[in-house]
Amino acid sequence: MIINISDIRENLGAIKEVKLEEEIEDIQFQDREIQIDGPAKMAFQVINTEDSFLVVGDIDLNLNVKCSRCLDEFTLPVTAKLEEEVEKDRVELSGAASINIEEEIEDNVFLAIPMKPVCDEDCAGICPSCGQDLNEGDCDCFMHTVDPRLAKLEQLLDKD
Ligand SMILES: [Zn+2]
Ligand SMILES: [Zn+2]
Repeated sequence: MIINISDIRENLGAIKEVKLEEEIEDIQFQDREIQIDGPAKMAFQVINTEDSFLVVGDIDLNLNVKCSRCLDEFTLPVTAKLEEEVEKDRVELSGAASINIEEEIEDNVFLAIPMKPVCDEDCAGICPSCGQDLNEGDCDCFMHTVDPRLAKLEQLLDKD
């Protein structure tokens, strides 16, 4: 994404407010493809400082992700924070001055993706043995109720 800064480049301390909506391409993240629902809403402040243009703001977007417990797809709103200093050395100041923060936006959106999204804090997930969605009711398996500490103990006993 490119921000035109020709109006603040001459004035040290000048602040420019930028608000825009932009489609962000789906992202490939640890073998998962994360779809992004609708345009991302971005609100930035660009500040002309001594040796850089400082970009601070939020990127609001809706991720289409799979619940890590029950594997249902759901929409997860996230806010990616952005705080990026673009060195003045990197900025072409002649002509229509602009800064490009495409990569920075991408990096920060990555950081906002949760490792294990859950559709609901109380999501019971699926039974690892029979695949029953435990949100819809219990199954008869013993598997999903095994206490991880007991499982460890069992392993220890097996060794003897
Ligand atoms: Zn779930
Ligand atoms: Zn089961």
